[in-house]
Amino acid sequence: MLKPILISTPHMGDRELEFVQEAFATNWIAPIGPHVDAFEQEFCQVTGAGYAAAVSSGTAAIHLALRLIGVETGDEVFCSTLTFTATANPIIYQGARPVFIDSDRTSWNMNPNLLQEALEQRARIGKLPKAVVLVHLYGQSADIEPILQACNQYEIPLIEDAAESLGATYKGSSPGTFGSIGIYSFNGNKIITTSGGGMLVSQDQELVSKARFLATQARDPAPHYQHSELGYNYRLSNVLAGIGRGQLRVLYERVAARRRNFEIYSAALNNLPGIEFMPEADYGIATRWLTCLTINPAAFGADRETVRLALMEQQIESRPVWKPLHLQPIFAECECFGGAVAENLFASGLCLPSGSNLSTEELERVINSIQSVHEYTKKYLTIYS
Ligand SMILES: *Cc1c(COP(=O)(O)O)cnc(C)c1O
Repeated sequence: MLKPILISTPHMGDRELEFVQEAFATNWIAPIGPHVDAFEQEFCQVTGAGYAAAVSSGTAAIHLALRLIGVETGDEVFCSTLTFTATANPIIYQGARPVFIDSDRTSWNMNPNLLQEALEQRARIGKLPKAVVLVHLYGQSADIEPILQACNQYEIPLIEDAAESLGATYKGSSPGTFGSIGIYSFNGNKIITTSGGGMLVSQDQELVSKARFLATQARDPAPHYQHSELGYNYRLSNVLAGIGRGQLRVLYERVAARRRNFEIYSAALNNLPGIEFMPEADYGIATRWLTCLTINPAAFGADRETVRLALMEQQIESRPVWKPLHLQPIFAECECFGGAVAENLFASGLCLPSGSNLSTEELERVINSIQSVHEYTKKYLTIYS
């Protein structure tokens, strides 16, 4: 039996258990607690964020961000189309409508020119969006400066979804710390994990305090439980924050390991016809959270799905690049500016196993499987041509 190789699994360091044991020893299982405070402070040190609120998921952080900015029923929110559905779902939670923006072919992230055009078009009809949600995909920062400039021109707050890009840089700083609010995720397959969790960051202390207030059921300062605003149960537990503190201490090792995966994959596969890896933009360092490539079927001899299924037969998990949100049944009614770039990346794009705990032998198994699909189809094509 072949041992399954999964796309991205949790990878604990040496300190996580110690922090968790400390929570047990002090019976600080709940409520919130000292690990949560320390995790928030340490997260700010690592990312350069001003203030941070630890929450139960990245999705919760996006929801809070939209609430804090005042997104309401009937509003429009601009959003990257090439992303996971959790980026846009909270827009619907708020009763607002997402309007999607296509990617740039070189960074795979939101095309700044298209955003500028979309904002100009909406300004002309007097219907500007309430916010822009920008995704930093697969460990790579979007081109933040021109995007921020376009947002500032129309005084639209920018929310950065850096769920997949903790540890990356944009001109030396952390994506997620440029906009009004940034969010991160510590879900099980992210570069570091608390088993489940998220972080909301901002330079605005009041905004982050308000996030904590809303995330703990919006309790007014009164001994009886009194509520003047709608709140949520979105805070991170002290036990899980302990895991997060341990994980933060190995973040840069995790980045190095994932970048090493990419180096090994690209050294072995880059010369195959029709294979192209996700480019690294020159404005920063990508973490290669997932190593992604595109397959041109005419040149390679097999399409993305053929390769994915061949890997699956070898007990290797790989995944198509995100299905663009404007193609998702749930967002079928939503408008999209452009879309062809994201559609092409979806049609041809594949994410390879990319965990920081993969062994060289496991990487070789993936490489050999992809090479043998190419060898097989080449032989096949020679026989029948
Ligand atoms: C994982 C992810 C989220 C959601 O984070 P959770 O912690 O799973 O709620 C949001 N956006 C993107 C781009 C993600 O990859």
